Amino acid sequence: MKPLISGIHHITAIAGNPQANVDFYSGVLGLRLVKKTINFDAPDVYHFYFGDELGRPGTIFTTFPFTGARKGTKGTGELTYTAFSIPSNSLDFWIERLKKYGVAVSDILTRFGEKLIRFEDHDGMGIELVANDSDDRSGWTYGQVPQEYSIKGFYGATLNLRSKELTEQLLVNHMDYRFIAQEGDRFRYGTEGKPGDLLDILVNPNGNRGMQSAGTVHHIAFRTENASSQLKVQEILMNNGYQVTEVKDRNYFTSIYFREPGGVLFEIATDEPGFAIDEEEAHLGELIKLPDWAEPNREKIEKNLTPVALKTEDYV
Ligand code: ZN
Repeated sequence: MKPLISGIHHITAIAGNPQANVDFYSGVLGLRLVKKTINFDAPDVYHFYFGDELGRPGTIFTTFPFTGARKGTKGTGELTYTAFSIPSNSLDFWIERLKKYGVAVSDILTRFGEKLIRFEDHDGMGIELVANDSDDRSGWTYGQVPQEYSIKGFYGATLNLRSKELTEQLLVNHMDYRFIAQEGDRFRYGTEGKPGDLLDILVNPNGNRGMQSAGTVHHIAFRTENASSQLKVQEILMNNGYQVTEVKDRNYFTSIYFREPGGVLFEIATDEPGFAIDEEEAHLGELIKLPDWAEPNREKIEKNLTPVALKTEDYV
């Protein structure tokens, strides 16, 4: 039977200043701002989507930027590091580029035989770039990051948990994930086991709980093909005792949410319809797009949002 879940769809973080957020992810990292909308559950806050040129599932890092938000803390019960996939020949390029823009970069680390670097954005968000040769996605560039070095999408993510057993049961028994490898306290799972679907559990039995605010991840969404496969996942989860929400319309996909046993908020999001439903592909992310129900309040909503500019020419 075809798997119902096929890796990571998007990862959503809480951020501080919206302009600093755009500068970092579009400017420094060279991701495309594919959608500028609002948090559907809190319309006074932006929701930015960064990804490849179309915001394909598996490339989309999204943020809720709150001006003046205080910083959260990394800890257990959280997704503490989001890893992006880069070509193996690009590590030196990225180290130099990050340093050029004042980002403190780790030494080169090795994990499961692959080299990576680790750093934080302006809010303290944990990011890793994993150099590898197993990613056949093409990546995207504005021009400021040459395509041969550009980010291809997610590599995976690290869940920092007190224990792994219940989360592992969820992933393996109900979410089409399988155990791949262990290195120390780190346990790796994947659907196919490729960049874009990898999930690590870092077991930290005595770790303090994280505090969610700016610079921490709000939730991780996994991919499912369409509304019908989403309902099947919802049923499987409900039948196994997970408290799953009803289907919510997020305009660019539909979503269900539930909290995994280790404390991280999980979402299952559809691959359809994607970000080109309300803007042409060439102009994604240029205007503030609102769902139909918010459109009558556009003037009021826009007044509450700080204007942001792409300024990509500053990051060449
Ligand atoms: Zn989401």
